[in-house]
Amino acid sequence: MKKECEIVQDLIFGYCDGTLNPASKELVEKHLIKCEECKKAYEEIKKDKQVDDNDKIEIDYLKRVNKKLKRKKIMIAIFSVLIILLVILHIIAFISYYHDQTTMKIFMKENISEEEIENIRNQIENQSKDAEITYISPEEKLEEMKEKFKENAYLLDEYEGENNIFPAEFIIKTKSVQDIEKIEESLVNIEEIQKIQSGSSNNPYMALLSDCMEWYIDMRGPVSNGK
Ligand SMILES: [Zn+2]
Repeated sequence: MKKECEIVQDLIFGYCDGTLNPASKELVEKHLIKCEECKKAYEEIKKDKQVDDNDKIEIDYLKRVNKKLKRKKIMIAIFSVLIILLVILHIIAFISYYHDQTTMKIFMKENISEEEIENIRNQIENQSKDAEITYISPEEKLEEMKEKFKENAYLLDEYEGENNIFPAEFIIKTKSVQDIEKIEESLVNIEEIQKIQSGSSNNPYMALLSDCMEWYIDMRGPVSNGK
C-alpha cells in the first residue's frame, strides 16, 4: 500500500462524517479520483455508514412508538378508573334513592296517649306487612339531639320535662313507594298527627346530595351557639 493510500484511508472516516478540514478533504477527493483501491474502500465505508444511520432511525422510531403506546396505556388506565368511579357513584345514588324514597316520618301532636300511639302503629301495620316501624318518644328524640349538640348539649337542658319541644315520631321504612302512599292515605284523617314527611326527592342524585349534606353537618360536630 502506497504512503498516500495509507493517509487517505486514515482520513476516509472523517471524510464520510464530514469532519475534515478543507485541505484534507481536497486531498482525499483528489486521491479517490485516481486510486481505484481507495475508492473501493471509501464506497464500502459509505455503505456501512448508511446501514448504521438507518438502524439509528429505526431505533428512534421504535422508541417513539413505545412512548406513544405507554402514554395510551396510562390514558386507558385513567379512563377505566374514572368510568368505574362513575358506575359506583350511580349505584350508590340509586341504592340510597330507593332507600330514601321508601322512608317516611310521622310527627305526633303533644300529649298523645299510649293508646293513640298504638292505634297509629296498627294502622301502619295494616297498610304494609313489610313496614319497618320505629317509634321515637319525645325523651328519646331529646337525647338524640343532645348527642348531636355534643358539648353544647346544655343548651337543651331547658327543654327537659314539660318544655320538651320534640314531638313523638314514627320512622317507617318499606320496600315500595306505593306502600308509603297507602300508609299516608290511611293516616291523613288522624287528628293526633301533626305532620307527615315522605319521599321528598324524585331525583336520585339530588337525594344523594342531600344525604351527603346531612352527613357533612353531622360530621362537623357541635352546633355553634351563635356567640
Ligand atoms: Zn489509494
